[in-house]
Amino acid sequence: MKPFAYVKPADVEAALRAVATEPGAKFLGGGTNLVDLMREGVERPDTVIDVTGLPLDAVDDLPDGGLRIGALVRNSALAADPRIRARYPMLSQALLAGASPQLRNMATVGGNLLQRTRCAYFYDAAAACNKREPGAGCDALDGFTRGHAVLGVSGSCIAAHPSDMCVALAALDAVVEVRSVRGDRRIPIGEFHLLPGDTPQNETALAPDELITAVELPVLPVAARSRYRKVRDRASYAFALVSVAAALEVRDGAVAGVRLALGGVGAKPWRARAAEEALLGGAADEAAFRRAAEAELAAATVRPGNAFKTALATATIAATLRELAREEDAG
Ligand code: SF4
Repeated sequence: MKPFAYVKPADVEAALRAVATEPGAKFLGGGTNLVDLMREGVERPDTVIDVTGLPLDAVDDLPDGGLRIGALVRNSALAADPRIRARYPMLSQALLAGASPQLRNMATVGGNLLQRTRCAYFYDAAAACNKREPGAGCDALDGFTRGHAVLGVSGSCIAAHPSDMCVALAALDAVVEVRSVRGDRRIPIGEFHLLPGDTPQNETALAPDELITAVELPVLPVAARSRYRKVRDRASYAFALVSVAAALEVRDGAVAGVRLALGGVGAKPWRARAAEEALLGGAADEAAFRRAAEAELAAATVRPGNAFKTALATATIAATLRELAREEDAG
């Protein structure tokens, strides 16, 4: 591992000053992804700024009924928060579907937003990877693509975004709060993660000197009846082949409200807006759920190794919506 300097600032201002004066610095939260990447030589920071001592670990009620989640809230603590479980169950379920209990006890909300792809070629220094080394090529394009994305991909990179939590945040219209010595910013979750295009090394809208301080969840009554369903090769501790975060409100047999986002298939956490549009105002039945899913997956670019994902995603979307519709019927 490349040698690095380690600092542990006492407050947010000191952390922001440290990152502003150290261009090669990285923030360290739970370390569940950054430390692995440093061991593999993929991440090579000159300085690691340990932010785990900063007072950013509270979940606060907002005056309008939303929630503000500190960036250092651990994944396990957030999943167990009674307000999350009652008002945004898809988020609690997504967090519990991710990683292992030990990792969830360490991983933070801010770190989860920034976790990097698990594309095996990205971690393999002997493989060509445009994300690790811009312009090097992409060995995944003609390689083993079972875990790779089919939506939002480019000729430069087909890596899937690995987070479960971020899929729920995309469905919930979360807002990411960031700070730097230059000021504060609020970034809608849909603009936070970037598509690969020709520059897959650029993964988020976060500037190098910005620190994630919190995530805000807006008031969203439809989210009280929501679900996160994850399909994977093992029952636990595996990344999604396909996942679905869905919320549904049915009135008189018609879809009155819907939120839908996908994981495992997108180059970023994938808000399924085409499917939402197709569903809203229409019948809440199996045929409509499948048609909406097909509308979303029509834009997929598949390879032989991941072509199965369009059918799997269609079935998973339909099954999740069906389950939510039945719950509505049951009152
Ligand atoms: Fe690298 Fe992306 Fe290609 Fe994977 S898919 S090897 S991350 S460029």
